[in-house]
Amino acid sequence: MGSTVALNGVWHRYSNSAEAWTLRGVDLDVAPGELVGLLGPSGCGKTTLLRLIAGFERPDRGSLRLGQQLVAGDGAWLAPERRGVGMVFQDYALFPHLNAWRNARFGLARGKGDERVAWLFSLLGLEGLEQRYPHQLSGGQRQRLAMARALAPSPRVVLLDEPFSSLDVEVRLRLRSELSSVLEACDASGVIVTHDPDEALAICDRVAVMRDGVLHQCATPQEIVRTPATPFVGSFVLQRNVIPAQSTRPDQWSCPLGDLSQQHIRMAAAPTTQEECCVLVESKDIEIDADDRGDAAIVGREFLGDLWEYRVRMGEMVVRATCGVEKDYPPQMPCSLRIKEGAAVDLMTS
Ligand code: ADP
Repeated sequence: MGSTVALNGVWHRYSNSAEAWTLRGVDLDVAPGELVGLLGPSGCGKTTLLRLIAGFERPDRGSLRLGQQLVAGDGAWLAPERRGVGMVFQDYALFPHLNAWRNARFGLARGKGDERVAWLFSLLGLEGLEQRYPHQLSGGQRQRLAMARALAPSPRVVLLDEPFSSLDVEVRLRLRSELSSVLEACDASGVIVTHDPDEALAICDRVAVMRDGVLHQCATPQEIVRTPATPFVGSFVLQRNVIPAQSTRPDQWSCPLGDLSQQHIRMAAAPTTQEECCVLVESKDIEIDADDRGDAAIVGREFLGDLWEYRVRMGEMVVRATCGVEKDYPPQMPCSLRIKEGAAVDLMTS
């Protein structure tokens, strides 16, 4: 079966901006029924990519297909209202002067779709709230209503821009866990923008990790955890330490935390000995040894409930290491760091 959304080599730059490209050669496919997360730091181009799919931005190069249809690029252009795309925004974007029912019906022709809206109200737990105005609804109910409105015209894809970030934790967790089943019930694909790695890994079928307009990896959460494609994916998505490494002899590697012969080295693609490379190390795999003559010092810590997470300066680097609550080290304590024996580390080109 073909893709619901297919971006092919998409480049984009805002015309009013002398700055560099916002999107740089992005390829991305969304399969029917799939929920894909766009994940990356603020300013990396996530919203721009969403706006481009919706038809509010045009690609400077490359093309966009929705289903079988070429809708942008290569001389084609289909207006946003004809794309069959629903949008859900962080701030709900509801009409304050319309009640919930009329908000949800907004994009539908007069006299049509009442049955679908009623079905969506029941699917999204909005029954009984039809006559309320947006200001009479809670944040979670407003976002449910925004979803009902986006889904009412039976779009093939729903684009969600940070939809849960202004909700409190409990409502956010409940709504995000329902998202997949709501999309499935509506036979729609979804693309959701988030800057929260945990959210993306928890709810998406695949996660597209972006930085500075470049797509670093698009893979299932399991694949990303097992085989991060770049140091950025390792640090931003998985919060792993990125530590420079070098080859000492063929197949022998070392880093400032010791040589890596005692570790299980995973390599998605083996770096050559000439290339600058690094290892990704989980903070739980780094041991702090109190050591007056050590080349590192504790610079900060956070209490995580059942663990301490220490930040330790070592030369130019700040390394994160977690350890049991009994290891109550004072700030500035001199120490040395090592990678625990048998820990799995990812070796890759920097
Ligand atoms: P994200 O959603 O990942 O935070 P955006 O897609 O909103 O990122 O923005 C990507 C880059 O484009 C940023 O550098 C931002 O400042 C710039 N940008 C966003 N919107 C506009 C605009 N309308 N005009 C010019 N530059 C913009």
